[in-house]
Amino acid sequence: MASVIVVGGGAAGLVAAWRAASLGHRVTLLEANNRLGVKLRISGGGKCNITHDGPPKAILAAFSREQARFLRPSLHAFDNRAVLDLLHREGVETYTRDNGRVFPMDRPGSATAVVEAFETLVRRAGVAIRTGARVTALAGRAPHLEGVLVEDERLHADAFILASGGASYPETGTRGEILGWLKALGAPVRPWFPALAPIPLHKPRPDWEGVSLRGGELRLSAGAEGRRLAAFAGDIVFTRVGISGPAALELSQGTERARRDGAAWLTYATSLEPPETVDAALQIEQRTNPRLLAATWTQRLLPERLVEPLLAEVGVPRTLMLKELSKSARRMLVALVTALPLGEPQTVPLARGEVAAGGVDLAVVDPRTMALRGWENLRVCGELLDLDGPVGGYNLQAAFSTGYAAGNLV
Ligand SMILES: Cc1cc2nc3c(=O)[nH]c(=O)nc-3n(C[C@H](O)[C@H](O)[C@H](O)COP(=O)(O)OP(=O)(O)OC[C@H]3O[C@@H](n4cnc5c(N)ncnc54)[C@H](O)[C@@H]3O)c2cc1C
Repeated sequence: MASVIVVGGGAAGLVAAWRAASLGHRVTLLEANNRLGVKLRISGGGKCNITHDGPPKAILAAFSREQARFLRPSLHAFDNRAVLDLLHREGVETYTRDNGRVFPMDRPGSATAVVEAFETLVRRAGVAIRTGARVTALAGRAPHLEGVLVEDERLHADAFILASGGASYPETGTRGEILGWLKALGAPVRPWFPALAPIPLHKPRPDWEGVSLRGGELRLSAGAEGRRLAAFAGDIVFTRVGISGPAALELSQGTERARRDGAAWLTYATSLEPPETVDAALQIEQRTNPRLLAATWTQRLLPERLVEPLLAEVGVPRTLMLKELSKSARRMLVALVTALPLGEPQTVPLARGEVAAGGVDLAVVDPRTMALRGWENLRVCGELLDLDGPVGGYNLQAAFSTGYAAGNLV
């Protein structure tokens, strides 16, 4: 049996340590924070969306093709059912929402219950847990990692599993530094990149903070007049500095990419009909309901709080009736509901992402064992890999599955 050091006591590291110790290995888990699973505790707004319901095929479909191909073997070996069975055996009851997201039963501290279940599992398996132990360097050269440094102390082991997470929410312990060290040791890596983050705007609407646009689609184009690059159906909510909400998070990575490429422009369509169809419907309304206020019509598609300021912006008085609406004013109203301009984004913050894109290049990691190519005793798992799924429990599932594969030292 081997001595194993696992770096990182988050979702992936906990599962890796538990699995390796269950197989009889002597496992030490090093965690920089003073307690385990800090990011897990704040996940899902403290409720922890553990995984997503459905067959492995459906889970894989949420990832990019390259990531899905990589994830397939480890997901099949330790899938969502396996994660939930494990938690149920530890007394964590779960439920599945209509949208397929699986959570622990709704009660205060439900995310903490998940962390405590994993902590119980690793302790029972005999893992030596060292919290407050930040690894400050890796010692060794390919093909052999000799040890890790925790402050001045050098720790040796037969095998090492790196599960140090991504680089977002650094206050949870994930600063992303180990990716840089792996790069220095010759491992191909992709730099950290923001994902699932709120989007700051060049011209934010602080007066609208808290207002949501619902049921429509956030659209990204290459500039105000540029071609459509991407779209995501879902809600957004205005923040003091920009937008957040499901559609904003999902489009944040593409938005930052387009911004860095030189041109990004965001609009929100509260009506998914083409402008011509909305325009035709408005013209019918003008004929059949001429005394209806333009403001009342607009309010059918936009939140009340936005109607007056938006109408003022396009020069339509509040008291204007549809029969008084000029052709150009009509077009402007149609544009507001089919493509409300949000404008240019500012830098999407890596630190505020629910996940960090980038990480160790999947092409150099064995998808069955998480072994890093060119190394005989080094495995990487979790968000440290170049894996990033959408919101919905996919990222934790990826961490659990790859963690299990890494700990499966047979
Ligand atoms: C606000 C928020 C909400 C989220 N909600 C969800 C959700 O509901 N569902 C979902 O699927 N995903 C969610 N995610 C994403 C999910 O939490 C992560 O993808 C997942 O935790 C990654 O697991 P990991 O084990 O790879 O990394 P982490 O869970 O981040 O664990 C890595 C650990 O390594 C430690 N570490 C780092 N560097 C060192 C070092 N040098 N030495 C020692 N220890 C170190 C860190 O302190 C950390 O504890 C959320 C993320 C955030 C930020």
